[in-house]
Amino acid sequence: MIFEYTDKVADLLARVEAFMDEHVYPNEQTYYDFVHDPANQWQEWPGMEALKDKARAEGLWNLFLPHDYGEFSPGLTNLEYAPLAEAMGRVPFASQVFNCSAPDTGNMEVLAKYGSPEQQDRWLRPLLDGTIRSAYVMTEPQVASSDATNLELSITPDGDDYVLNGRKWWISNAMHPRCKIWIVMGKTDFNAPRHAQHSQILVEPDTPGITIVRHLTVFGSHNSPGGECELRFENVRVPKENMILGPGRGFEIAQGRLGPGRIHHCMRSIGQAQRALEIMARRADSRVAFGKKLADQSSIRQDVAKSFCEVEMARLLTLKAADAMDRHGNKVAKDLIAAIKVVAPQMAQTVCDRAIQVHGGMGVSGDTPIASFFTLNRFVRIADGPDEVHMSQLGKQKIAEYVSANQR
Ligand SMILES: Cc1cc2nc3c(=O)[nH]c(=O)nc-3n(C[C@H](O)[C@H](O)[C@H](O)COP(=O)(O)OP(=O)(O)OC[C@H]3O[C@@H](n4cnc5c(N)ncnc54)[C@H](O)[C@@H]3O)c2cc1C
Repeated sequence: MIFEYTDKVADLLARVEAFMDEHVYPNEQTYYDFVHDPANQWQEWPGMEALKDKARAEGLWNLFLPHDYGEFSPGLTNLEYAPLAEAMGRVPFASQVFNCSAPDTGNMEVLAKYGSPEQQDRWLRPLLDGTIRSAYVMTEPQVASSDATNLELSITPDGDDYVLNGRKWWISNAMHPRCKIWIVMGKTDFNAPRHAQHSQILVEPDTPGITIVRHLTVFGSHNSPGGECELRFENVRVPKENMILGPGRGFEIAQGRLGPGRIHHCMRSIGQAQRALEIMARRADSRVAFGKKLADQSSIRQDVAKSFCEVEMARLLTLKAADAMDRHGNKVAKDLIAAIKVVAPQMAQTVCDRAIQVHGGMGVSGDTPIASFFTLNRFVRIADGPDEVHMSQLGKQKIAEYVSANQR
């Protein structure tokens, strides 16, 4: 592997970093003060659109879409995108500034890859322009949704429409004021083979029959402005042309969606871990206890050194997974994608935990971004599939592979 950035990536990275320095870090505290103020619940921070306009004007826009998405893609490979996503990940709201934030990125990939021309005109183009946002509506409260074959929201044909009935929860972005389209997964055929029962359909949030049952908190806070909520669908009528790809093809779409989305989360987790490590080192160098700097305590040096090793290991594994996706496709790279989906957020959580400890009381406060990185990476270990599910599939694959390999 060659570790040098190409000229194109070095240039883009320098520009993303300069943009972050000039426009994102200086607004970080203001942003979080605004979204955490209960008076502003479910409202977008007023400075967001101006920052998006600047990023779009500078060509720092939609960088996530891999090179095989034709006219929609800026032409980067996953490997080229990795350092850019890491740089954006250092401030969690930054990816939205560059129109590179979840779940919009995964939804745009679905529409670019599987959407009809009409679906692309109506929803993909405004998503690519950043004028609307979207949600991915899969998880259900009454079934273990880490096994997506359990999902049971019904999608029943009736004349020119499908009629949706069921419950969903943990839907990120559903509360966002600009969220105008949801991709909903449910069952069209309860009697088909297990992986041909489900479909994905486009639903507009203001369709009659949809109720927001309640807002969910994550570690005690509402994740405003996107939020997570529980939804009820009662006889929700959706035109048949909103079906993506065709009935029974929900799993095919889910597989296509999740590879890139998962690795993007990992890249951002590494950005957060790297930043927590840097903040930890600076704090250790400036704080004196029992007559010497924390940085001169052996245990603190160990924490910094271990964190450095772990960030580097996770970054290399992420780059290897990204390279495998580019060269061999997401299907062949699924072992590396599963590995990094488990490794990166756990690593980030561990590094943030050490950084919190080094800061003492300040570590759990909102005075540094570390506490928020810690909680974010904790839930990333559940969202997009819990760690155990990825490990189980990875273990099964590796056992089969090594059993069938030549014995040496
Ligand atoms: C902050 C946040 C945002 C989210 N955003 C979205 C969203 O936008 N859209 C959406 O549809 N969903 C979203 N989710 C939901 C998330 O994807 C699900 O919570 C996740 O897939 C797990 O499903 P579940 O909650 O039903 O857990 P279950 O399926 O009930 O699993 C519970 C636990 O069982 C264990 N387990 C499961 N399978 C195995 C196994 N094979 N081996 C060993 N142990 C196992 C794991 O420990 C797992 O955590 C979000 C969740 C969170 C917390």
